[in-house]
Amino acid sequence: MNRREILDLLFRMPWPELRAAAQQQRRAAVGRHVFVRGLLEFSNLCRRNCRYCGLRRANRPLRRYCLSRSAILAAARQAAAAGVDTLVLQSGEWERPPHWLAAIIRQVKAELGLAVTLSVGEMPRDHYACWREAGADRFLLRHETADATLYARLHPGHHLTERLRALEWLAELGYEVGSGFLVGVPGQRPTSLADDILLVRRLGVAMCGVGPFIPQAATPLALAPHGDVPMTLRVLAVLRLVLPTAHLPATTALASLSPDDGQRQGLLAGANVLMPSFTPAACRAAYRIYDNKAQVSLAAARRAITSAGLRHRLPAVLPSGDSAHV
Ligand code: SAH
Repeated sequence: MNRREILDLLFRMPWPELRAAAQQQRRAAVGRHVFVRGLLEFSNLCRRNCRYCGLRRANRPLRRYCLSRSAILAAARQAAAAGVDTLVLQSGEWERPPHWLAAIIRQVKAELGLAVTLSVGEMPRDHYACWREAGADRFLLRHETADATLYARLHPGHHLTERLRALEWLAELGYEVGSGFLVGVPGQRPTSLADDILLVRRLGVAMCGVGPFIPQAATPLALAPHGDVPMTLRVLAVLRLVLPTAHLPATTALASLSPDDGQRQGLLAGANVLMPSFTPAACRAAYRIYDNKAQVSLAAARRAITSAGLRHRLPAVLPSGDSAHV
């Protein structure tokens, strides 16, 4: 599929047709199973100043936290008991000796046997190597936008080439790599979404996370309009057609803009991954990458999967209710 054809799918094909094509492709390529990952946002410390993100370092009033090793392990145990297949450790970006996180990865792997995905931003290659050696399986690092000029504007002092180099290192080190991008971030030309899709295809990513931009009050983009939900769903459907076997999450950002059925809509558009949060309640408000962020619970994920007519491998709910994590 070339750029012209991708643009046609994105902007011209009637939605019922596009969605039906994505659903057919999903059935053929990945079946009806939905993977459920447990997301643990273990720190909001960040040295970067991304113009769209509420964790940016210029947001001084934000209360910063970093969970202790024992708090991370407690949350990981809760996620494992709830039946997730993977622990996703996400944080803002700050440079620290890599050994702290490596020890946590080792313990999660040894004690709980979960797959571990990291999402901790751009780091030196030897940090990535250390965590891989410790047993980390996958890494999520969105390229955010394939428009290099816009990328540089949104990430002061940084360039798309550095991001792509980091993605290359991760692949070389044997991580299963995920990228992704924002839909409707201010300054984005709609047609550049086709370049985002072509880029993730060229990178050959195993996963691709796509979510609408949502403004955060303490950022320079506070007053910008949020990204479009229908457009995000169209992008997901085209991704399913272009990357048939990729893991595509229905993102929290989608759920935040459509609290009633964003996740279900994402699944119906071709997504096959949900990432409910296991971040301790006391920290959730401080992991404010954007405002009005939904709390995607395990119970909500389960409902979305069932109501989309799809399957999961979560344990049955106890008669007393979803006691593990509601
Ligand atoms: N520091 C890590 C994780 C960042 S948070 C990293 O750099 O990879 C995870 C994702 O949240 C980011 O990749 C970005 O795409 C998304 N995000 C940040 N601010 C956002 C906003 N205002 N609206 C929507 N998504 C946002």
